Amino acid sequence: MTALTLFPPDRTAALERLAAFAPKAGRDYAARRNYDHGPGAHTSVSTLSPWLRCRLITEEEVIRTVLGRHSLATAEKFIQEVFWRTYWKGWLQLRPSVWDQYRTDLRRRHDDVQTQSGLRDRWEAACSGATEIRCFDFWARELRETGYLHNHARMWFASIWIFTLELPWELGADFFLRHLLDGDPASNTLSWRWVAGIQTPGKTYLARTSNISKFTEGRFHPRWQLAGEARAIEAPAPPAAGILPPPDTPRPGLRSGFLLHEDDLSPGFALENTDLIAAAVLAPQTGFSPLHPAPHVAGFRTAAAKDAAERWAGRIGSAPTPVTDAQALENWAAAENLEQIITPRAPVGPVADCLATLASRPDAPRIAQITRDYDQRAWPHATRGFFPFRKHIPELVDALA
Ligand SMILES: Cc1cc2nc3c(=O)[nH]c(=O)nc-3n(C[C@H](O)[C@H](O)[C@H](O)COP(=O)(O)OP(=O)(O)OC[C@H]3O[C@@H](n4cnc5c(N)ncnc54)[C@H](O)[C@@H]3O)c2cc1C
Repeated sequence: MTALTLFPPDRTAALERLAAFAPKAGRDYAARRNYDHGPGAHTSVSTLSPWLRCRLITEEEVIRTVLGRHSLATAEKFIQEVFWRTYWKGWLQLRPSVWDQYRTDLRRRHDDVQTQSGLRDRWEAACSGATEIRCFDFWARELRETGYLHNHARMWFASIWIFTLELPWELGADFFLRHLLDGDPASNTLSWRWVAGIQTPGKTYLARTSNISKFTEGRFHPRWQLAGEARAIEAPAPPAAGILPPPDTPRPGLRSGFLLHEDDLSPGFALENTDLIAAAVLAPQTGFSPLHPAPHVAGFRTAAAKDAAERWAGRIGSAPTPVTDAQALENWAAAENLEQIITPRAPVGPVADCLATLASRPDAPRIAQITRDYDQRAWPHATRGFFPFRKHIPELVDALA
């Protein structure tokens, strides 16, 4: 079972997975979603996250399909989980410095790994699944081989990493980001912060033997091996929410290029009235980590971008040029003599960094980042915790009708 066999990197596979899962998104999901049945058997959850991550399939499509079969009340749990993703994206969008700080601290942690042999040995053992905590080692290998872990396994794994193995949380978040097919700057960084007791200051997540045993249906029972308490990691309080940039629109009359990118391979805006002379698709291979992503992650990203590019070629008249970094993006814009790039808004992360680098160059084209209505409506509500955000779900769902 390879990662790309379990998660074929194309939209057709995403639609098939959604169609198969939708009947189970109501009561079945609410009752069974916390059970981790192991690799290739994650049948109580949707496993849609790799495709949602790059929007080969969108949150709106998933919500609409599920609500085509269930009432909001019946599918409440599942819809709420999809909105966790939206909430984390909005939260980070309102506080981009948290991502910058994570990357600065991560570089320091990787320097420590180079200079401290004890830390390096413990880090290598954790990443390769050689800690002698059987469940943890199993999940490390499952992640490396399949590019996916069940949500509960992610919580247990992160908790054991931080509180039992006493490894820096940033290195664990980085291990995830390099191996998860759905690795996402917002969901990943903020979930690790949450387990560590930084996101909701003082509130940590402690993995317990009985909980692991129950929700793996007895596959694991790590008795006496796990930390008995989880003291929050010391860190500065989260910054106050900033403001979102105002909505952007394409300016008519400019030589314009269309840029697809791996944060949104299904842009939700019309291109009919725009005179496009070129198109590109951006899938950065760097900017997530000082280390390289796992081959399956790089392979998924490249193939997903190619799949989207092929579908868009018919709509925009030519095959988008693949680009992988800010320099290649700049070269493309210069070669096409572009005055404007029209692109779906890139949330905080490597794509946004590439666009910011390009924008900082002299003679850079204007960049019109179009925010999807779904994000524009939801992100401003991510100012505090998920519970105040959750109150807005019914109106956000109504807006999709
Ligand atoms: C330490 C840790 C790291 C994580 N890293 C990531 C990550 O890099 N990328 C990522 O997409 N998710 C991440 N998650 C959240 C969650 O574990 C995954 O989204 C979920 O397991 C994906 O599996 P699924 O598609 O079967 O989810 P389902 O249960 O079927 O949920 C449907 C969709 O809702 C969204 N979702 C569900 N739960 C969450 C959640 N808790 N937070 C945010 N979105 C959620 C996902 O897009 C998911 O595809 C992380 C959680 C933890 C505890």
